[in-house]
Amino acid sequence: MARNHEIASMLREIGTLLQIKGENLFKTRAYETAAFRIEELSESEYETRVQQGTLDELPGIGEAISKKIATFHATGTVPLYDALRAEFPRELLELLRLPDLGPKKLAILRRELAVGCLADLEKACRDGRVRVLKGFGEKTEAKLFDAIMRLQQADSRRPLGAVRPIAEQWVERLRRIPGVVRVEIAGSVRRYREMVNDVDLVVSGDDPAGIFDTVVQMPLVDRVLGRGDTKCSVVLQDGLQVDVRVLPDDRFATALHHFTGSKNHHIRVRGYAQSRGLKISEWGVERISEGTLVAIAQEEDLYVALGWPYIAPELREDTGEIEAASSGQLPELIDRSDVTGYVHVHSRASDGMSSILDLALAVEALGGSYLTITDHSRAAGYAGGLDEDRLKAQWDEIAQVQEKVRSVRILRGSEVDILEDGCLDFPDSILAQLDVVIGSVHARLNLSEDQMTARIVAAMDNPHLHILGHPTGRLLGKREPYPIRVEEIFDRAVSQGVAIEINGTPERLDLSAEHARMARDRGVKLVLTTDAHCTQNLNYLSYSVGTARRAWVRKLDVLNRLDADFFLQSLRGGSLCNKT
Ligand code: CA
Ligand code: ZN
Repeated sequence: MARNHEIASMLREIGTLLQIKGENLFKTRAYETAAFRIEELSESEYETRVQQGTLDELPGIGEAISKKIATFHATGTVPLYDALRAEFPRELLELLRLPDLGPKKLAILRRELAVGCLADLEKACRDGRVRVLKGFGEKTEAKLFDAIMRLQQADSRRPLGAVRPIAEQWVERLRRIPGVVRVEIAGSVRRYREMVNDVDLVVSGDDPAGIFDTVVQMPLVDRVLGRGDTKCSVVLQDGLQVDVRVLPDDRFATALHHFTGSKNHHIRVRGYAQSRGLKISEWGVERISEGTLVAIAQEEDLYVALGWPYIAPELREDTGEIEAASSGQLPELIDRSDVTGYVHVHSRASDGMSSILDLALAVEALGGSYLTITDHSRAAGYAGGLDEDRLKAQWDEIAQVQEKVRSVRILRGSEVDILEDGCLDFPDSILAQLDVVIGSVHARLNLSEDQMTARIVAAMDNPHLHILGHPTGRLLGKREPYPIRVEEIFDRAVSQGVAIEINGTPERLDLSAEHARMARDRGVKLVLTTDAHCTQNLNYLSYSVGTARRAWVRKLDVLNRLDADFFLQSLRGGSLCNKT
């Protein structure tokens, strides 16, 4: 940036800061005018005038300002500027990004409502405290609130898989702080939404200030957005916002419930509570007539107070869970601990990075009872797909590893490509020798909806196919699902006895929760997989399970909750009756 432009923007900023400070218009406008004059100059004219000390000969540039410019060139700083920057933190200036908010109005908000950051203003709008200010009104308040919501949502949504591990690390660290009693992830991360905006953490302990001292020093914290008595908000270097709330432990459960959301779920819950004479807020559950508090130690107690069974966070979207809870129809959701089989796992024979032995040991350590090695087939040449000879060699390796790792049964499988015409990439004679055949589309994605649907239906008509892999081919935030008629695929899966996976690789989550719920409602059997390419990836099971729970998937819908024998029997249409 040319120096005169640099100076101009500093002068303009001084003008703005003085306005926020509440200085008179005459003084603040002088800085704006000077900035304008200086920007007009060519760089060389500016340099000359600085050297000769003749800037103040220009109309609109007084002695005071020209002195400040000289000071800047001599010392590199302007004391007034530094003082103003120190007085007005970045989070306050961020408010100026709101289209309807200039420095003058910001000065009023700051003076009258002590607004210091976006969150403060958001709260003030919610509480209706902005509309009563002179020069604001109800319309302005609504406009500001909408603008805040837009600002917060813009470019801030990211895939759950990019955020949840960070949230989990924070939980671990916060739990280690002395005096901390409970720590939980709240918000949409807890509900396993596939795209999330931020991280919400709820902590109980008696020393919020001490906890916040740790929070602001957490690794990767770029800046502190706000710090109060119960809440501290920080932004990480990559722009991810983390909100930490600290409460006494007897308020933990209601706060956790409150900050878990969703908003729509809460509206229904609060409405129902009111009809039972209860008032639910983030602070507690109150008997309205008596003004006394109901003791809520766990979230379960809150639902018990309503006469309901516990509603799992993944269901709290107002998509039928309220009705199901009040009529005793809540599903018995699948749980991570129910899943015993690790299905859809790649070894280093194709594009994985771990050996079969290491994978087996990892599954053993995770408490799993079987593992299905499903490397790519030969058509997936880019991924080191196996031809028949290499596949048979792998069966020898599986036998050898099985000798060493007795507690985990290792099944022979393949993630076989579904070719463009719907044929599978191995002949039936080979497929027949495999325990588990997953069929997936990896190439030739640009078919029409008719062609793609017919392709997948044809693959499911092959009696050797057990499981349809990542059925829509989407990559979150990168690639849309290819066009297919999912209902038709689901119905064919049911009639052919083919299971469908919920792929837990964070960038896939395929089926999505929406599709998985449709599949479940149509009677499709599901397999919760990781698509692991190394031992670490086996933990993707939690994303698969979380997505399944959002989809109301019950234990009885999931095949790999069964032990290995029953799992194998249930593939391809075997009845699940009486198998647990
Ligand atoms: Ca959130
Ligand atoms: Zn695949």
